[in-house]
Amino acid sequence: MISEYGIFAIVLNRKARLAFSGRKNFWSRLVIDKAEIERVKRANDLVTIIRSRGVKLVRKGKQFVGLCPFHLDHEPSLIVDPAKQLWNCLGACKEGGDVYRFVMKADSVDFREAHRRLGGIEA
Ligand SMILES: [Zn+2]
Repeated sequence: MISEYGIFAIVLNRKARLAFSGRKNFWSRLVIDKAEIERVKRANDLVTIIRSRGVKLVRKGKQFVGLCPFHLDHEPSLIVDPAKQLWNCLGACKEGGDVYRFVMKADSVDFREAHRRLGGIEA
């Protein structure tokens, strides 16, 4: 039989674990500085990064278009805006985002690894 103290300890333990895991997530998000992320975005041209992953991009007006690497694409549905440094797919997968999102998808890595691959440093 568990004593009153035992139950109290179990509840306290669960609360402590929840608090700790919450704090862990909080800190891991803060490890990469926001300014450093902005620096990395400025340092990596999106068109160059997408091309480096084997995607052929052709200029069409102010944008670049190419075959989307994230779904079976027959007509170019990947649109890249070099001014905004954003990409998106108008085809089946509807993916899109910034240079981080592209590296995460293309290389199947998490944000931290994408940051590293883009030359980012962790605080
Ligand atoms: Zn797509």
